[in-house]
Amino acid sequence: MDYEIIFVTGEIFFDHPLCGVAILKRVLEKEGYKIGVIEKPTKEEEIRKLGRPKLFFGVTSGSIDSMVRNYTPLKKSRAEDETQDYHEVVLDRATTVFSNWIKHQFKGSILVLGGTEASLRRFAHYDYWQNRLRKPILFDTRADILSYGNSEKQILEIAERLKNDLPLYDIPGTCIITKEKVNTAKELPNYEEVTNEKERFCDMQNMLTNTEDLIQKIDNRYLLQYKSPKYSSKDLDEYYELEFTRELPKELSGFEFSVITHRGCIGDCNFCSVNLIQGDKIISRSEESILREIKAITKLPHFTGNIDDLGGPSANMYGMDCNKCNASCIDCNILDRSNKRMVGLLREVRKVAGVKKVNIRSGIRFDLTTPEYIDEITKYHIFNTLRIAPEHVNKNVLKLMNKDKGDLKKFMVEFKKTNRKLSFYFMTAHPGSTMKEAKELAKAIKRLKNAESVQIFTPTPMTVSTCMYYTGMDPKTKKKIYVPYTYSEKKEQKRLIFE
Ligand code: SF4
Repeated sequence: MDYEIIFVTGEIFFDHPLCGVAILKRVLEKEGYKIGVIEKPTKEEEIRKLGRPKLFFGVTSGSIDSMVRNYTPLKKSRAEDETQDYHEVVLDRATTVFSNWIKHQFKGSILVLGGTEASLRRFAHYDYWQNRLRKPILFDTRADILSYGNSEKQILEIAERLKNDLPLYDIPGTCIITKEKVNTAKELPNYEEVTNEKERFCDMQNMLTNTEDLIQKIDNRYLLQYKSPKYSSKDLDEYYELEFTRELPKELSGFEFSVITHRGCIGDCNFCSVNLIQGDKIISRSEESILREIKAITKLPHFTGNIDDLGGPSANMYGMDCNKCNASCIDCNILDRSNKRMVGLLREVRKVAGVKKVNIRSGIRFDLTTPEYIDEITKYHIFNTLRIAPEHVNKNVLKLMNKDKGDLKKFMVEFKKTNRKLSFYFMTAHPGSTMKEAKELAKAIKRLKNAESVQIFTPTPMTVSTCMYYTGMDPKTKKKIYVPYTYSEKKEQKRLIFE
């Protein structure tokens, strides 16, 4: 078959809304495009197996940056970690490797980058694995265009332009390289400045956003970002109701009947990058669409009655939509914290014929819960334990994480009355954490007894916490902060917890 578009992905491909490439494939197919997928290539010749696409190659490492996927926070290979049952390995720097293979095998073909790795490496960025700054990934790969975020609108526009022989500029949600400066875009400190002065790297960090056109000079050219297109509830309803087979490879089984309710996160945690991928406002699907999707799931031959998960980046942010301004919603009095839409949705989903149980396996923000919501989910929806991520207990570290809004003790006193169990996610060795703060965390975790996961902070590209790690400063105030850099100290901060 002659394909118009061929996706090359570092991960396993599965036809399910949890797989980003599957959504793009379905969206494009609905418009009549013929789509091929090459999954997990490990040798250059595998790139040839579907031939040359008529329009373009779409390249992604998958849902996670390949270096984050392949290495622990202490830079050990995860593939060699015998404590993990299953670990999907992709090639290191998969986006760049696949792009080079394509350029070599199919000279002159158009290359479109996407996915988390490309999105978070779209400007000059700190690379923890090489411990240095790198240029935007478009410069490494020599690709034609980069689409950041979820990309359904971008990919359709790119396909349409190429089909009609039109140029690939002015497409919202994409980045390109230009020779000329674009005066209407906000200019970030240039590559030389951010490389030579850590204060300028902080300035760049403070300007990063999806909601503005941005430009950054790299040597004698420019990286230009067009601001993200607006996605609506209606768009999400359309994408998630496409006809996926929902068949998963056996390594991923247990999530076949997961339903995504919304996109975006209003948490603005400094160590996280969801806001620079999905956005920092919530876009919820309509209740009617979610119910239609669940009714369709109940008709599938392999459905046994359980909805495996009903959630998004934080399950209880469903319904917290507001797009009145660009400020941070988590600090805003106007934000609807009632959980009413979520509770209403859960009640309706339980009434769907054929549904026996609806699990909530996505984590929740404990500081955005109401007693009514907790009552509802503890009675009907918890899968073993309810997952929350306080991340730390020390006030200063929490402030540096921008996660100091909630009162964990108060929440736990209330939650105890439900007789259900919590599991906790914590992070140690974040900037600001000396051995003193690490001991405080260790003591608290021992009292809790149920810390499901304690991870060492990983400086992933483009986050505020990574800027702190690289510069040793709080980018907002430019004040110096303590950063545990050595492996031995990072290890020691974790060991304290499990000794
Ligand atoms: S008004 Fe408040 S809740 Fe609404 S978008 Fe602005 S910050 Fe967010």
